[in-house]
Amino acid sequence: MEEGVWRIVGGGVAGLAAALAATRAGGRVALYEASPQAGGRCRTVRGPDGFTHDNGTHVLIGANPRALALLDEIGARARWIEPEPQGLPVYDARSRALHRVGLSPASWLAKNLRPPGLAFADLPRFARLLAPGRDRAIGEIFAGSGVLESFVEPLTLAVLNTPVAVASARRLGRALRQVLAPGGGRLYAARNGLGPDLVEPAIATLIARGAQVETGARLRAIETAGGRMSALLFARGGNERVELGPHDRVILALPPSEIGRFLPGIAAPTAFEPILNAHFALAEPAPGAVRFIGLTGALSQWLIVRRDHVSVTVSAAAGEAMESDPDNLLVRIWSEIDPALRAAGLELHRGERQRIVKEKRATIRQEAGLPVYAPRAPWPRLALAGDWIGPLPATIESATISGENAVRALKRDAP
Ligand SMILES: Cc1cc2nc3c(=O)[nH]c(=O)nc-3n(C[C@H](O)[C@H](O)[C@H](O)COP(=O)(O)OP(=O)(O)OC[C@H]3O[C@@H](n4cnc5c(N)ncnc54)[C@H](O)[C@@H]3O)c2cc1C
Repeated sequence: MEEGVWRIVGGGVAGLAAALAATRAGGRVALYEASPQAGGRCRTVRGPDGFTHDNGTHVLIGANPRALALLDEIGARARWIEPEPQGLPVYDARSRALHRVGLSPASWLAKNLRPPGLAFADLPRFARLLAPGRDRAIGEIFAGSGVLESFVEPLTLAVLNTPVAVASARRLGRALRQVLAPGGGRLYAARNGLGPDLVEPAIATLIARGAQVETGARLRAIETAGGRMSALLFARGGNERVELGPHDRVILALPPSEIGRFLPGIAAPTAFEPILNAHFALAEPAPGAVRFIGLTGALSQWLIVRRDHVSVTVSAAAGEAMESDPDNLLVRIWSEIDPALRAAGLELHRGERQRIVKEKRATIRQEAGLPVYAPRAPWPRLALAGDWIGPLPATIESATISGENAVRALKRDAP
């Protein structure tokens, strides 16, 4: 039977996952990415000054089975290491104390891994978070609790990138239920970065399977005829037209704003939250392996230490930080993280190169009441993918699942 070509637009994690799933069973794939490099919001940034770092401080957890399986498939699983196997170190900037916190509620039975401020009265609140009931704001459930600021708020920002005052308890609860599984609370970070440990091995696997990967290929229009897609038009220097064969299938693995442009009939999310990252090159290499440290009571929320640099995240960054002068921010952020690093046993000195990276639309705003997006594409042989689709928090895991599901749906639907 004629198989046609899988034409996948968008080379972020969702597009890569779709391309890997389609090539797994021998499908022919053409992947089109607008930027000069694949990876999308998961990418390694190489500055003109040679300073190289990820756009963010991405981590995975044991409760991300599909993303971890994707790493296995591309031969990169061993490159994702556990930076803090003894529990996440969290530094409180006000008390200047560092304590370790377990990510799984099961680990809280051990007193030394319990979030500070956790009281017996909080257990029903966590039960409400875990129980699938009416969706409500997480801040509403934990109002007045000692654990809100020390644990629930940082966790919400890390997982949902949405302020607790509006963030969806149902979405966080789904993620937490998965964390309860054995190993679900283990934290993993790329040893060298997202480029070498995720995107490049994914592309190498696709090319080895015969896929065609085109960067600098921005989709600008979809032509239709007789209720079917007939061509994809790309802006590549001039106009480039890809005629669709009768058996070709198309996956748009794009952020909601692009979907809204191509498919205005689809109700895609319209509210987003930013993430701001500060990156500091180190004057001398950091000793030991990758480290990951949380902060409370500060603008900075967590940081990753790699051999030659430190990256710091301010997630759901307040408008104040997004608008601040980058030089002032760099001074403020380093002054916050320096004592946290020392408390974690690291005496590091920053070098000359430093940079602020602002992602204005880092993720969708995942507020209470947000629908679960499972959009039906308006034409046959078309499916959508992206981290914003499905019931889980918008992360690498949901992007992976959406890409794989798009392939499955098209295989099921189209003869
Ligand atoms: C700073 C930051 C930190 C994060 N931290 C974490 C974390 O710790 N853990 C975690 O799991 N998740 C994290 N995330 C979220 C995670 O990065 C995203 O959920 C995931 O990368 C989304 O993948 P995607 O493929 O759905 O979308 P995208 O990565 O946005 O991919 C879409 C791709 O489509 C391309 N494109 C757009 N328009 C066109 C067009 N017209 N034609 C062709 N191509 C087009 C884009 O260039 C892009 O490459 C973080 C995100 C950010 C920004």
